Amino acid sequence: MSTAARSYRIRSARKADLPNLMRMRARAIDQIQHPEYQRRHIVLWRDAKVSDKYLHMAQQQRLWVLGPAGNPLASAGLRLNTLELVAVFVDPDYLGNGYAQRLVRRVEHAAAGYGITSLLSEASLNAVGFYRHLGYRDGKKMATCDRLGLPCREMHKNLLPRQTHYQQQVLRTLNQLSIPSDYGIRHKLAMQPPPYRLVDAGSDCFGRPQKLTAGTLKAWQKMLNAAADDDIQLQMVSAYRDLAYQTGIIQRKLEQGQSIADILKVSAAPGFSEHHSGRAMDINTPGCRPLETEFSETPAYHWLCRHAGRFGFTQSYPQNNIHDIAWEPWHWCYTRRR
Ligand SMILES: [Zn+2]
Repeated sequence: MSTAARSYRIRSARKADLPNLMRMRARAIDQIQHPEYQRRHIVLWRDAKVSDKYLHMAQQQRLWVLGPAGNPLASAGLRLNTLELVAVFVDPDYLGNGYAQRLVRRVEHAAAGYGITSLLSEASLNAVGFYRHLGYRDGKKMATCDRLGLPCREMHKNLLPRQTHYQQQVLRTLNQLSIPSDYGIRHKLAMQPPPYRLVDAGSDCFGRPQKLTAGTLKAWQKMLNAAADDDIQLQMVSAYRDLAYQTGIIQRKLEQGQSIADILKVSAAPGFSEHHSGRAMDINTPGCRPLETEFSETPAYHWLCRHAGRFGFTQSYPQNNIHDIAWEPWHWCYTRRR
């Protein structure tokens, strides 16, 4: 069996990874040896029904893997409701390549992006040394960990030193606007760091110059042309917006007397708007008031629902979305990475 370390890129797990990921997890657990673990512990842990939990994490882009497509060699995930690092496993044939460490760092980075300042891990006893090495502090030892059926130790890591300058800036802005610092966790929204590079994307329907990432602009132009071929006219309303712009929107609404709770139902908090990424845009069509739900009754909206996916665009805030943000039929994001 080859154990040569290859520098695989860390990527979000897809549904197609899950069957082999479950097998890799079972093999990894099967090989664990620790004086406090009896065989029945290992079997309970190995055979726990976790595939639904993994699928849920994958669908919400909070499960990362490393290895060939469909054949993960290592995994790690973030459980948002318990602020917990989970699913850290490495294929037993590929131990010692630093895969777990890289994946844990990825989860920590993502956790900091939700505004999490202290990350929990319910570490199996064989893994306690690994977590200590990565800066986790010992918490209480649990006789029988609920989810695993075996003794484990709670371990915590302070993520404040891991925050990027941008993440610190976003949390300061939230504080200035009296938005709770757990906004990202509550709304299941990750901070949207600004892109490295933006390109001119022409003017929006109000004549204001707009910017997008190069990949998004290319996909938008393709989609625009395809829609025109079907006699559908799409218009850009607003594309890239920076942190200061989004802060200004919220401040103006506050000055008009709206409560912050009402404002956040229709506007993402500064730092969390997809418009910061240069990949999101608001779309309209002639004869429709921009940024109004009446857009959902236009042929343009129905065309987008049928065809936008082909061009890599998805509707970020559909009706009853997991983010508890009002339905925005006009808001589309380019999610296909180039
Ligand atoms: Zn938008």
